[in-house]
Amino acid sequence: MPKQAYVTLVTNADYAMGALALVRSLQLTGTDADLVVMHTGGTPAEALEPLAALGALPVPAELLPTSDAFNERHQRARLHANAPFTKGSKPAFHTPLDNFAKLRLWQLTEYERVVFIDADAVVVRNIDRLFGYPEFSAAPNVYEGLADFHRLNSGVFVAQPSQATFAAMLERLDRPDAFWRRTDQTFLQDFFPDWHGLPVFFNMLQYVWFNLPELWDWKSVSVVHYQYEKPWERDHPRAGELKPLIDLWHAYHSGENIPDIDTLANPAS
Ligand code: UDP
Ligand code: MN
Repeated sequence: MPKQAYVTLVTNADYAMGALALVRSLQLTGTDADLVVMHTGGTPAEALEPLAALGALPVPAELLPTSDAFNERHQRARLHANAPFTKGSKPAFHTPLDNFAKLRLWQLTEYERVVFIDADAVVVRNIDRLFGYPEFSAAPNVYEGLADFHRLNSGVFVAQPSQATFAAMLERLDRPDAFWRRTDQTFLQDFFPDWHGLPVFFNMLQYVWFNLPELWDWKSVSVVHYQYEKPWERDHPRAGELKPLIDLWHAYHSGENIPDIDTLANPAS
């Protein structure tokens, strides 16, 4: 059996909370793949305990050894000023620089293939067939309209760990004046210009729920990704219109009353 893993990243207690819902959701799909949680030193040990207790494998992963100039360019206030988020808001606990640590999954060379999933997502049906997809496969960044089909979203992707690829990435990432406005996402799209497109259902962005409701079909949706505001943020600006999705996340997080996905109502119906 080739070794395969689902991998996520957490750098603080908030994203560890997200990872708990993700890990629980993956286990309910019946997958045999390893569930790896890469974590940086900023994550409190207590936040990792429930993940390990469920059987996930915590793997220490430090932030990348990028230069001070690179770190300053991608520092939160600077990035928000130079590349403002106009469509939604990022929680205070989101540190853009931390996103780049995702690239550490290329160092997990004990695995032949990995599927990376953001810690702010839940998997609602088995997606093991993604391990048969090539590097680099990702779904489009669609949540508003057709114009976004040519961009990928880096919340779910298929990759093949390799030290050589990791080294090549580090070299390309931190060039003088390099500014990756959407961090790892912009970088990965640039590094893999011939990326393979996955169906949108493998990375259904929560804003589809209200912006493109006719695209939402629970019979096909496999991963729900809570981009922008997080479902565990109290009373965020979109909480009202996203309530059914927020309730779903809380069910996975608590492990209680997880609904049968096929019985859920679509937003356009
Ligand atoms: N992340 C993290 N800490 C941070 C920022 C990001 O652990 O401060 C990880 C986490 O896995 C998160 C992913 O990187 O899900 C990408 O960030 P996020 O999901 O908040 O971005 P969005 O999907 O809203 O663009
Ligand atoms: Mn995300």
